[in-house]
Amino acid sequence: MAEIVIRNLRKEFGAFTAVEGSSFTIRDGEFFMLLGPSGCGKTTTLRMIAGLELPSGGEILIDGEDVSQLPASRRDIAMVFQMFALYPHMNVRRNISYPLVSQGVARAEVQAKVAEVARILGITDILDKPVGGLSGGDRQRVALARAIVRRPKAFMMDEPLGALDAEFREHMAEELRALHDRMGATTVYVTHDQLEAMQMGDKIVVMNHGVVEQFGTPQDIYDHPATLFVADFIGSPSMNFLRFQGALAAGDSAVRLGEVSIATPEVQVATGPRDLVLGVRPEHVTLSDAAPYRGRILASEYLGTSQIITLDCPHGTVKARVPSGQGVRSGETVGLSFRSGTLSLFDAATGRALR
Ligand code: ATP
Repeated sequence: MAEIVIRNLRKEFGAFTAVEGSSFTIRDGEFFMLLGPSGCGKTTTLRMIAGLELPSGGEILIDGEDVSQLPASRRDIAMVFQMFALYPHMNVRRNISYPLVSQGVARAEVQAKVAEVARILGITDILDKPVGGLSGGDRQRVALARAIVRRPKAFMMDEPLGALDAEFREHMAEELRALHDRMGATTVYVTHDQLEAMQMGDKIVVMNHGVVEQFGTPQDIYDHPATLFVADFIGSPSMNFLRFQGALAAGDSAVRLGEVSIATPEVQVATGPRDLVLGVRPEHVTLSDAAPYRGRILASEYLGTSQIITLDCPHGTVKARVPSGQGVRSGETVGLSFRSGTLSLFDAATGRALR
């Protein structure tokens, strides 16, 4: 069991604030992603949960107990760094046994636990081999076995697949997720790769400049980004932003882009006149001659089953993901329609979604 509650967590390094009052809850058994660009405070947050860094303020509760000031050794959390770091002079069995042996666990128990994790990871037949000659995948599995053999309350993983090439990385991501599903241990995973976060995570915290921008399921975050930053960071190509001025009344279900009315989800809260941003995902744009909102085709990029069309529109550049069979010509002017239920509206000044 390990539910981890983060409340107003802060970290200052001298005058610099790396983490500014984060709050979120990691439920027992979740695969939980800390996502954001380089320098946003992900690693610092992870290290504070593991006890490798003490917070400047706020609380970390593990199963209800405030561990904020406890040393790492008393938190029962395993930190998994880049998984390739094996002890080269030991064979596979000794690599996996090491965390138990160094804690003074009895020999018979060590043997039983090593046999069990080797079975879970499918590496029983290589236990007596030297680590030197192993394939990349097997090295990764051995390193994982060593991390899980102790059965800690939770795992902290900092970009564990960072050093791998794209294809192998995807394969190991699937294995890691499958392993998590078999073991059910709470896992906190740091990545700057939004696709990895979306594919692997039960929940995602998106951070930027030390601040939590949004916390939710991958689908929540993709469909209902809370800020312009999240809307831009998640999705590839990212969400299109159409900038315009207007005022919204509660109950409105359309906005005006110039002369054209665009249907949107119903507005809940009125706003005075201001700079607004309409957010549209590329897959929610369709091109049709009849649509009154017009754009000029700048370029097209062929992706096999779909193509990305870039258009110059009166309120910004728009990328549309359309079927690759649809014939388009550069320079041509076409109509664009936006699937109404999927649009987002943001206040340009605050960057926050208007709902
Ligand atoms: P990356 O993916 O690049 O590691 P990150 O989101 O994990 O980024 P952190 O490593 O948490 O970011 O760092 C957040 C900020 O805090 C960075 O600007 C970093 O330079 C700063 N920082 C981290 N550790 C220290 C430290 N020990 N002393 C001073 N500044 C630090």
